[in-house]
Amino acid sequence: MEDLLGKDLNEIQAICQELGVAKFKAKEIFRAVNQKLITNLSELTTLKLEERNKLAESFFISTLQPANREKSAETIKALFCLADGKLIETVFMDAREERKTLCLSSQVGCLIGCAFCATGQLGFKRNLTVAEILGQVYYFAREHKISNLVFMGMGEPFLNYDNVLKAIDILNIEIGLNIAARKIVVSTIGIISGIEKFAQASKQLRLAWSLVSPFEQTRQQLIGYAGLPTIQETVAALAKYQSLTKRRITIEYVVLDGINDSIPDAVELGNIAKQLDSHINLIPYNSSPGQKFTRGKVQNMLAYLKNNGLNTTVRQSLGQEISAACGQLAGLPNDSGNQRT
Ligand code: SAH
Ligand code: SF4
Repeated sequence: MEDLLGKDLNEIQAICQELGVAKFKAKEIFRAVNQKLITNLSELTTLKLEERNKLAESFFISTLQPANREKSAETIKALFCLADGKLIETVFMDAREERKTLCLSSQVGCLIGCAFCATGQLGFKRNLTVAEILGQVYYFAREHKISNLVFMGMGEPFLNYDNVLKAIDILNIEIGLNIAARKIVVSTIGIISGIEKFAQASKQLRLAWSLVSPFEQTRQQLIGYAGLPTIQETVAALAKYQSLTKRRITIEYVVLDGINDSIPDAVELGNIAKQLDSHINLIPYNSSPGQKFTRGKVQNMLAYLKNNGLNTTVRQSLGQEISAACGQLAGLPNDSGNQRT
C-alpha cells in the first residue's frame, strides 16, 4: 500500500492514468486530500464507486496523531509518533487574531548538533518524508486556519531540501491549503547548497539564517559541525541569493549570556547585517535540562543595534512553560525529567 499524502498533482495524474481513472479527476483527488483534508478514500465521493475501490486497493491516506499534546496560553505543542516509532514535535502559535503560525519539524533530530539546542543534542535520526511534513500541518489545519509556516522546529531543513520544498509546493498551491509563499519561512544554519537552490525556487518564500555568533571561532565551537561553511562564505551565498531574488532575509541570533552578547558582538553582528538586505531577529535563549547556557543581554544588544540604524526585533518566546519555544524541541514525551539517550 502506498500513501496518497505527499503526492503532487503530476504524480496523482500518473496514478489516475495507471488505474484508468479520468485524468481530470486527479485535481479532485488532490483537492480532497490536501484541501478538504479527508483521511479516508471512501470520502472521495466525486469518484465512481468502482474508481474509488481501485484506488483503495493500492493507496491510503496517512495522518499524524499526537501521542501527547500540551497547551499554554498561546501555544499548543503536539508530540507525534511516526510510523517507525520516532518522535517529532510541532508547535502551533496563536499570538494574534490574524496570525496563526505553525513551527514545523523537517527531520528527526539534527546532524548539526548545536550545543545550545535541545534538538541538536539528540543527534540525527532521519529525514521526514513529504507526508510527515504535511501531516503536521494538516493535523492543526483541521482545527485552525493556519496563516504562516516556519521551518524552525526540529532539524535542518536544507539537509532535507527536496522533501521540504515538495511539501511547500503542495501547501502553497491553490487547490491545496493555499498558504502564501511569502508567509513561509525556511530557517537554516547556513547550508550553501540549500541557499543556492532556494534562490532558484520561483516563489516568494522567505529565508532566515541563524548566525549564532559573528566571530568565526566562537560560532564553530557553538555549532560544532565540521562541514559548516565560514561566515564569509555564507554571506557571499546569501548576497548572491539576494541579487537573484531581491528578497530581504532575516538574521536570527540566539543570545547567550557571556558568549555572544557583548557590545563587540553587537558591533560585528551589525557589520555582517549591513552586508546584506536584512532584518535582525534576536532570540532570547530558552533553556533545556542539562544545558549550561543562560539568557544573554538581549535588551543591550537591541539598543545598540537600533541606535546604529539596524532593523532589529526581539522574538517573543512563546510556550516556554511547556518546552515549546525555539531550541526546546527534543521529541521527548513529557520533556521534564526525561533523560536523553
Ligand atoms: N536548523 C535550523 C532551524 C531550526 S532552529 C536553524 O538552526 O536555523 C530555529 C532557531 O532556533 C535557530 O535560529 C536557532 O539558532 C534557534 N535556537 C536553537 N536553540 C535555541 C535555544 N535553546 N533558545 C533559543 N533559540 C534557539
Ligand atoms: Fe540543528 Fe538548528 Fe538545532 Fe542547530 S539550532 S542543532 S541546526 S535544529
